[in-house]
Amino acid sequence: MSIIDLTHSPSPPPSPPASSTATGVASWTLDVATPVHDLFLHFDRLFFSDRLAESGVSVVWSKRMTLCAGLCEWRGPLGGCTIKLSEKLLQFRSRADLLSTLLHEMIHAYLFLDASVSNREDHGPIFCQHMRRINAATGLSITVYHSAAAPASSSAP
Ligand SMILES: [Zn+2]
Repeated sequence: MSIIDLTHSPSPPPSPPASSTATGVASWTLDVATPVHDLFLHFDRLFFSDRLAESGVSVVWSKRMTLCAGLCEWRGPLGGCTIKLSEKLLQFRSRADLLSTLLHEMIHAYLFLDASVSNREDHGPIFCQHMRRINAATGLSITVYHSAAAPASSSAP
């Protein structure tokens, strides 16, 4: 299975979600081959009321990024926001790692869009609030770390 293949798929029509039930976890379960942009849209709808897509946030694979698995690049209210995922690092990780990384960066993007949040690059209380909410809904383990491989170079206390 190659995650890289997801990048350049010509976005086929999404397959109908499995209508299997229960905890609601099934409602976010996606085929393993779902392109990352579709994942982004899906999670945006589920957890952020489409706010990210409506605000022009995009998600791309980066071939050059090797120090952290994910990154949220904010260029100001007019410049937009791009979530970058490291092809090199994530292609060897599990699907859950990819999803967790994507969602971690989506939380950052969401906080960037909210002007009332001052510590937007931090993994503070508001970040953790979203993190816990999404972990509970998905069963994933999003953390406050950007990469298990590289120590965070953040100056956050
Ligand atoms: Zn972060």
